[in-house]
Amino acid sequence: MAESRFRKVLIANRGEIAIRIFRACYDLGLHTVAIYSHEDTFSLFRTRADEAYLIGENKSPLGAYLDIDAIIDLAKRRNVDAIHPGYGFLSENPAFAKACEDAGIAFIGPSSKILAQMGDKLTAKAIAHACGVPTIPGSDTPLRDAEDALEKAVSFGFPVILKAAGGGGGRGMRRCDNEEDVRREFELVKNEARKAFGNEDIFIEKYLVEPKHIEVQILGDQYGNVVHLGERDCSLQRRYQKVVEFAPAWSVPKETREKLYADAVKVARHVGYVSAGTVEFLVDKDGSHYFIEMNPRIQVEHTVTEMVTGVDLVRSQILIAEGYPLSTPEIGMGRQEDLRMDGYAIQCRVTTEDPANNFAPDTGKITAYRSSGGFGVRLDGGNAYTGAVISPYYDSLLVKVTAWDRTFDAVCRKATRAISEEHVRGVKTNIPFVTNILSHPTFRSGRCHTKFIDETPELFE
Ligand code: ADP
Repeated sequence: MAESRFRKVLIANRGEIAIRIFRACYDLGLHTVAIYSHEDTFSLFRTRADEAYLIGENKSPLGAYLDIDAIIDLAKRRNVDAIHPGYGFLSENPAFAKACEDAGIAFIGPSSKILAQMGDKLTAKAIAHACGVPTIPGSDTPLRDAEDALEKAVSFGFPVILKAAGGGGGRGMRRCDNEEDVRREFELVKNEARKAFGNEDIFIEKYLVEPKHIEVQILGDQYGNVVHLGERDCSLQRRYQKVVEFAPAWSVPKETREKLYADAVKVARHVGYVSAGTVEFLVDKDGSHYFIEMNPRIQVEHTVTEMVTGVDLVRSQILIAEGYPLSTPEIGMGRQEDLRMDGYAIQCRVTTEDPANNFAPDTGKITAYRSSGGFGVRLDGGNAYTGAVISPYYDSLLVKVTAWDRTFDAVCRKATRAISEEHVRGVKTNIPFVTNILSHPTFRSGRCHTKFIDETPELFE
């Protein structure tokens, strides 16, 4: 077993991903430190760490997890060697990575420089373009005004999409089908960009009507080695947000997937990428593929890649930050040929959203909970237990149910069985909705594109 070079790791996150990271730390023999907000005083995750500290008492529920100074200060006082940011919150914040670097604490992720490059979608597109990786036709500098946007829209042809350069989480994006839409949406996207992302740069690109969202998992070490770990199909989205993800993206031709791997590795090598990262592409109906962005962090859906490759991505991130190369036996990816992909995995995000009420997050106490299980079923939960109080302050993810099996048909059945065994009383969940997706013939046939959910009303019944 690789000898630990860190002793203590602070996890600057909450819920299921905090627990996921604690587990990887324990497997490596590392001591864990949790932070929690006042609102999370009774949340399960904080009890799973060796030490836990209340943070941001005078901050908002979200603000506590965004308080860079307080987190760094605590890390210094508790002699923390490294900080894992998880996903969301500060995970893509270059100022946070820089503050860790300045404090002599390892940031478990890429450098602040890479975060700054990838945090801006226009810069990321320019990097992809510079490596010869195809990008969607669009403006390569921020738009000046609505007239500028219109001029470009006319030259690419409608439909188009306005996007916030600093956007994320499916926000800051609007489709426009005509000139009127562009005039109306321009200011709305700009305002959203300013308020939500603190960066009012917006750009325009051609809107692909029924693409698939396919993303490639990357690992890079500190010695310039970069490998891919195959791809995930994340086309099952509701309002640009992923609901169900699977690996491999078997319905995309092998030749196209090979191109995605090569292009993803090209982009990662070009920037000297270190840690786990994801290169996202849209694949159009005619088979053309386009880079859309790179996510420089662990992703919610990393579990499906772990299930089909057998590589623990979070543990790999920690080992890489400790200075171990990809060839370390616990990563086992010294050469691209070391990648073994076996079978199929599906992840379902079980949330406390109520499909009957326009997916409004439900809150309250879980009065009864029984979990699923069995061969090839993995649960990553944060607050799925009897007595848990679901608050309105954080995202509504209850548990991620990931299933593995030898064929796609078998894994669909297994995932359906597993989520039906998830028994949650006291709050509403999206389980019936996810079950409808898994049993839909279009899903089974691999023909889903990013608009499938929005265009299939029977899923909501
Ligand atoms: P975010 O950073 O908010 O996740 P992305 O750039 O990754 O945003 O895009 C999220 C989703 O938005 C994509 O998976 C796709 O469904 C949709 N999308 C983004 N760009 C386009 C485009 N040019 N045409 C059609 N759909 C798009």
